[in-house]
Amino acid sequence: MAQSDQAFVTLATNDSYAKGAMVLGESLRNHKTTKKLVALIGPHVTEPSRAVLNKIYDEVRVVDVLDSGDTAHLVMMKRPDLGVTFTKLHCWALTQYSKCVFMDADTMVVSNVDELFDREELSAAPDPGWPDCFNSGVFVFRPSDETYNKLLRFCAEHGSFDGGDQGVLNSFFSDWATADITKHLPFIYNLSSVAIYTYTPAFKQYGGNAKVVHFLGKTKPWGYTFDPKQRRIRGDVQEASAHPSFLLEWWTIYSSLVVPMLQQEYGDQPFL
Ligand code: UDP
Ligand code: MN
Repeated sequence: MAQSDQAFVTLATNDSYAKGAMVLGESLRNHKTTKKLVALIGPHVTEPSRAVLNKIYDEVRVVDVLDSGDTAHLVMMKRPDLGVTFTKLHCWALTQYSKCVFMDADTMVVSNVDELFDREELSAAPDPGWPDCFNSGVFVFRPSDETYNKLLRFCAEHGSFDGGDQGVLNSFFSDWATADITKHLPFIYNLSSVAIYTYTPAFKQYGGNAKVVHFLGKTKPWGYTFDPKQRRIRGDVQEASAHPSFLLEWWTIYSSLVVPMLQQEYGDQPFL
């Protein structure tokens, strides 16, 4: 039974990130989540991609920050550079849910992670590049109009020190590093390849417990091509952005579950 006031939430502003969202959603379903699945999409996501997202997600909501209320509109006018960031902050406006877990479209679960809903806002795992900051690819939050408006105003006044949502969120939830250790998610809930290659022995020791893989960085899984007959990624895998076995797992879900749905919507275009 889906617990209807709790949801996993992701975001895709274009068809490429939508592929990531499709794999993420399938991975959550494969591991039998009991929570709702919500995809926030930008107005540029095309109709066939929306149709596939609708098959996987309980709710697909188009968010255009420009039309979404006064504060957002004004703030957006002042800081057009933070467009995608504002779209992500929009998850706080999902007030029909009491608690949510946001997951980047470039993440994938490799086991059930419903226990994340036992945590409070704002829970997140350390960023591998600067561990006193949390990584905003996976976080637990409570939707609230009040928090949403505060975040937007904060954004307009202070901007983002990294140009994205992670900078804003770390400045806003600035006591994350010190206030409450229960808000520090274990690293296995947001495991990125950067960490695998900077501390390989730790990955060998603990990597088997990974629950969420995050393909952070420039090259995303959908940026590679896959040979379905040999079940191999074509060409060189840039190891800094993707561990080969996790990348293969992403492509296995994509080629076996997502591609057939895409082909149904788009006609038989090649997607591999
Ligand atoms: N995103 C998006 N469209 C974009 C860029 C980002 O929808 O053009 C969303 C998507 O959910 C993505 C998240 O914002 O996973 C954060 O961006 P990204 O994962 O590329 O950043 P990284 O994790 O590599 O720092
Ligand atoms: Mn990411």
